[in-house]
Formats: sequence, C-alpha cells, structure tokens
Amino acid sequence: MPSIENNVAVVQEKIAAAAARSGRRPEDVCLVAVTKTVPPEKIQAALAAGIEHMGESRIQEALSKVGIISPGPTWHLIGHLQRNKAKLAVQIFDFIHSVDSLRLGYTLQRRAEESKRTVDCLVQVNVAGERAKYGVSPAQLLPLLKKMSALSRLNVRGLMTIAPYVDNPEKVRPVFRQLRKLARETEKLKLPGIRMEELSMGMSGDFEVAIEEGATMIRVGTAIFGSRTDPATK
Ligand SMILES: *Cc1c(COP(=O)(O)O)cnc(C)c1O
Repeated sequence: MPSIENNVAVVQEKIAAAAARSGRRPEDVCLVAVTKTVPPEKIQAALAAGIEHMGESRIQEALSKVGIISPGPTWHLIGHLQRNKAKLAVQIFDFIHSVDSLRLGYTLQRRAEESKRTVDCLVQVNVAGERAKYGVSPAQLLPLLKKMSALSRLNVRGLMTIAPYVDNPEKVRPVFRQLRKLARETEKLKLPGIRMEELSMGMSGDFEVAIEEGATMIRVGTAIFGSRTDPATK
C-alpha cells in the first residue's frame, strides 16, 4: 500500500507538471484533499504530508472532524448544502464551493449576518447538464450572479463544476473549458462583490486536464486516500 505521504507527493508532481503545461506555477493551483469517509488518522497523515486544504461534502460528517484535526487546515464544503444546515456551514467552513441556487444564497447571507461573518464561496455550475447533479445551468448563471451581487456577506470568488465521470479525462476537457469561458464572460460585467479568480474543477481522475484548462482549485480524494469503501457517502 502506498503511503498517504507518497500519494500526496505524486499528486503534487502531477500538479506541477500540468501547471507548467498551462504556463502557470504549482502554487497557482490549490490542492483540496477530499476527506469524506476518511478517518481522522488518515486526515492527520495528509496534514503531516503538507496538505493545508481539506474538503468535506456533508455537514454532519464534517462536524465530527473539523474540531479534532489539528492544526486546523482550511476547510472547504464541496457538496450540496441544504438550507437548514446553512448556519452550521457558515460556522465550520472557510470556503463553500457549492452555492447552487439563489435561495441558498439568501439563506447564507442571513446566516452569515447572524454569525457576523463573511463567506467565501463559489457558484456551482452543472456545465454538462447532468440530471443527477446539482448546480445552476450555464444559462441561469448570470441572472443568479446579478442577484447575488447584492448579498454583502457573500464573497463570490469564482465557479465550481463536477465533470461527468468518464474513463478518459480528455472527454471532459470541453466541460472545463466551458466553465472557464463562463468565468471570463462574467468577469467582463464587473459585478460588485463578484470576482472570478477561482475555478474549482478537477478530481482524482481528471485534475491534470482541469489544470491545463485553468483550474485554480482541484478536489482530490481517491488519489490521496485510496478508494472509498462506503458508496453511500460518495
Ligand atoms: C468526492 C468528491 C471529490 C473527490 O473525488 P475523487 O474522485 O475521489 O478525487 C471531488 N469533488 C466532489 C464534489 C466530491 O464529492
């Protein structure tokens, strides 16, 4: 079994190579280690291997980990957020990748006000239009962002997408390219409070292609921690 330390090193080498191919530096890509279903000992090992950003997809599971992993990394929420858990999300996460509706935006604004916090977030776009996935459609994106621009407690920092699962990552290159194009088009509008500096795209199977297409944040679970055994928490 390769060690977590070794896996992290391999992923970092691949990040550096892909960044170089797109004319960027390795530091321009933030590696978020996805810790869903991963027990604390292994998360701690990833921390020791130099990981500074961790991603969880469920509030309940994150609650059991965030307090005990130390020194605390930057925690990213990468999964769908139910509005009734927005208060907890604002309290425990530093970055929310998965804002996928205006209603959720309004709820986060209210919860952030109550907690006297501002929330760094991304808007999730369902670029490929998959029925089983969350995210706004490309056509809904601009109307949503125009409204979110008025939400003072939300710092929209960019966009996120989850590409379809495919055997060959080249097949999803157009998905990543499309997300980048949407970010560029949005940027031109210069909406107050809306920045397009981050593109969260790419997972274990496709992060190199995503980086080549401009990813600034990649979310990697399996390539660091090995395959997840519990399909229910996928
Ligand atoms: C689980 C998950 C990942 C990580 O997937 P791997 O294929 O294990 O790297 C990334 N992003 C999201 C939104 C996820 O739910």
